[in-house]
Amino acid sequence: MTEFDQLVQQVKSCTLCTLSEKRTQAVPGEGSRTADIMFIGEGPGFYEDRDGRPFIGPAGHLLDGLLASIDLKRENVYITNMIKCRAPNNRDPLPVEIQSCGPYLDKQIELIAPRIIVTLGRYSFGKFFPSQTISKARGRPQKWNDLVIYPMYHPAAALHNPGLRPVLEQDFQKLLSLLEEPPVIAENELAEQLKFF
Ligand code: URA
Repeated sequence: MTEFDQLVQQVKSCTLCTLSEKRTQAVPGEGSRTADIMFIGEGPGFYEDRDGRPFIGPAGHLLDGLLASIDLKRENVYITNMIKCRAPNNRDPLPVEIQSCGPYLDKQIELIAPRIIVTLGRYSFGKFFPSQTISKARGRPQKWNDLVIYPMYHPAAALHNPGLRPVLEQDFQKLLSLLEEPPVIAENELAEQLKFF
C-alpha cells in the first residue's frame, strides 16, 4: 500500500473529532495524486457524505462547469476539503475540527506537492493567510513556502449570490494563465510574473 493509500485509509477510519460519530463516510478527496493544481474547499455536504466524494452536489456542479471552462478535468487536478467529515446541517467547521483534520490535509499537500493551491472560500484561505480577508485577497496569487496559493470565492457563495459568479469565472480564467507558466521557474521570476495579477 502506498503512503497515500495509507493516508486515505486513516481518514476513512478517523475518530479524532466528534464529526466521525454522525458521518455516513469520510471524504478524503479525489483526483490526480501528481496534480499541479489542488483545490481545497470547506467540508463535505449531504451528497459528499452520502457518496464519499468531494464537490458532487450543487456547488460541485458549478465547480465542474468552471473547470470545464478552462479545459481542466477533475481527474487531472486534486480536490479536497479542510475537514473530511460532514458537519451537522452543513454548519461552518469549528476550529477544533479544522485542527484535528489539519495533519491529513498537510500530508496530502506534501505527497501531492502541487504547484498551485486554489483555496475555495474563507476557511481554506484562512489556513494559509489567517490575517487577510477573502474579499480583498481573491483572484491574487500569493507565495506561501514553495507553493502558490490562489484564493477564490467558494462556489456555494456564487450559488447564493449570483453576482459572484462572473468573479469566479474571471478568477478561473486567470488560473489558466498561471498554469501556462513553465513548470520550473525561478522563484524571483515567478514573483515577478505574479505581480501582474
Ligand atoms: N462544499 C465544500 O466545501 N466541499 C465539498 O466537498 C462540497 C461542498
